[in-house]
Amino acid sequence: MSGDETSADQEHDSRDVVVVGGGVAGLSAAVFTARQGLDTLVVDSGESILRRNARLENFPGFPLGVDARRLLDLLAEQTETAGADRIDGRVTRVASIDSRDTDGSDPADGARFAVEVDDDRDDADAPGDRADLLRARHVVAATKNEVGYLDGVDGVGILDRGKSYVDTDERGRTGVDGLYAAGRLAEKPHQAAVCAGHGAEVAVTLLEDDDVPFYHDWVTPEGYFTDRGREVPPGCEEIDADERRDREAGALDATRERFAEPHADPQETHPSLEE
Ligand SMILES: Cc1cc2nc3c(=O)[nH]c(=O)nc-3n(C[C@H](O)[C@H](O)[C@H](O)COP(=O)(O)OP(=O)(O)OC[C@H]3O[C@@H](n4cnc5c(N)ncnc54)[C@H](O)[C@@H]3O)c2cc1C
Repeated sequence: MSGDETSADQEHDSRDVVVVGGGVAGLSAAVFTARQGLDTLVVDSGESILRRNARLENFPGFPLGVDARRLLDLLAEQTETAGADRIDGRVTRVASIDSRDTDGSDPADGARFAVEVDDDRDDADAPGDRADLLRARHVVAATKNEVGYLDGVDGVGILDRGKSYVDTDERGRTGVDGLYAAGRLAEKPHQAAVCAGHGAEVAVTLLEDDDVPFYHDWVTPEGYFTDRGREVPPGCEEIDADERRDREAGALDATRERFAEPHADPQETHPSLEE
C-alpha cells in the first residue's frame, strides 16, 4: 500500500470500526460497537470453523442445542439490527496510517488504519461501497488463525504455536492503539461461547478506550435509574411496559419464523475428509 493510497485527503469509506472476521467473536464484537453508535463494518470470508459443528449443545440459552449455521445467521442478523454493515470479502492487508504521509496533522476522520479488502460484490450500491480500500479508527481482528494481513502494522506480536495467534492483554488489546484481537485468534479456548463472550468483552474494551460516552450496554425497566434520581447512564436505555411488550411480540414472531425449518446449508467437515 503506497503512501498516496493511504493519504487522508482521498475519499475512502471511513469507518469507526472494521471487524475482520465474521465468526462468533467478530459478530459479537460488532453487535456491541454498533449498538453504541460506532459506524461498524464486518468483513468476512465466510469460513467460520463453527460451520463444521454437527450440533451446538453448549452455547448458553439453547437447552436442546442449536444448529451452528443457524446461530451464525442469527448473530449476523443481530449485527444488522444493531446497525452494523457486513460484506463478504477477505481482508488482505491492514496498515497503520502515518499522518506524516500527509501534512503532519492527524487525519480529519481520525483513521489510524488503512484496510485492503478483496471483495466479490458486484452491487455498486452495497453498504461499504469502495471497500477495496477502507479507513478505520479501530480494527478488531477475529480471524481465528489467519494473521498475514497484519504484516503492515508495526508492533503486533504474532505467536507461533503450530498455529498463529495474536498476542494481547486480557481485554484483547494488541499494544497498537486501536487494534484489538478477539476470540480464538487471541488464544481464547476453542469454544464458541468463550469466543463469542470474548468478542463482546473486546468491544466493551474498545468502547472504554474510545471517547464515546459509555457505562454499560443495558436495557432496563422504566425508572430503574431515573426513579432513583439518576440520569440514564450512557449506553443504557429505560423502556416502559408498552415498549417491552412491542419488542417481545416482534421477537416472538421472528424467532418462530427463524426456527420453523431445518437450516438449508449442508453439513461441513474437515477439508481433508472432503472428496
Ligand atoms: C468440528 C468442530 C466442531 C466444533 N464444535 C463445537 C462445539 O460443539 N461447541 C463449542 O463451543 N465449540 C465448538 N467448536 C469450536 C468453535 O467452532 C470455535 O471455537 C469458534 O467458532 C471460534 O470462533 P472465532 O470467531 O474465533 O473463529 P471463527 O468462527 O473461525 O471465525 C473466523 C472468521 O474469520 C474469517 N476470516 C479469516 N480470515 C479472514 C480475512 N483475512 N478476511 C476476512 N475474514 C476472514 C473466516 O472466514 C471466519 O468466518 C467446534 C469446532 C470444530 C472444528
